[in-house]
Amino acid sequence: MSEDSIFTKIVRGDLPCYKLFEDDLTLAFLDINPVSKGHCLVICKEEYQYIEDVPDEMLGALIKSVKRVGQAMTTALGGKDYNLIVNNGPIAGQEVPHVHFHIVPREPGDGLRTGWKQGKLNNDEAKDLAESVRKALSN
Ligand code: AMP
Repeated sequence: MSEDSIFTKIVRGDLPCYKLFEDDLTLAFLDINPVSKGHCLVICKEEYQYIEDVPDEMLGALIKSVKRVGQAMTTALGGKDYNLIVNNGPIAGQEVPHVHFHIVPREPGDGLRTGWKQGKLNNDEAKDLAESVRKALSN
């Protein structure tokens, strides 16, 4: 059996956190290594690595908590904008294998970037890809 995630340990109270919000299904707390002031995490209390593994009802509760906490955090900071980030799997940069949304408050001129270089959509590739996804969705 795999070991409980750090976040499960936080949910259980075995590890401390700066708690912001909690309901039956979700928990929000400050990120221990913030990339901006107010960087916080909203998690499902139950441990799932991938967002597609989370039951719909729980996912609904999670996004509602993200909305509430995002609004409360930016109100507390006196701002409005933030990035929402989900690293879904290790190749996508997920270090803690337990579904969580990052809320990263932003300020004008804060210089934060994702550093992604954008390409240009190729028509043939786009047509095939869209068709493959529609097919996967219809199954
Ligand atoms: P990710 O790479 O998307 O899995 O992000 C995991 C996040 O969890 C990182 O931003 C870490 O700084 C944060 N983190 C790890 N351990 C803790 C902890 N004990 N308390 C709060 N945040 C944590």
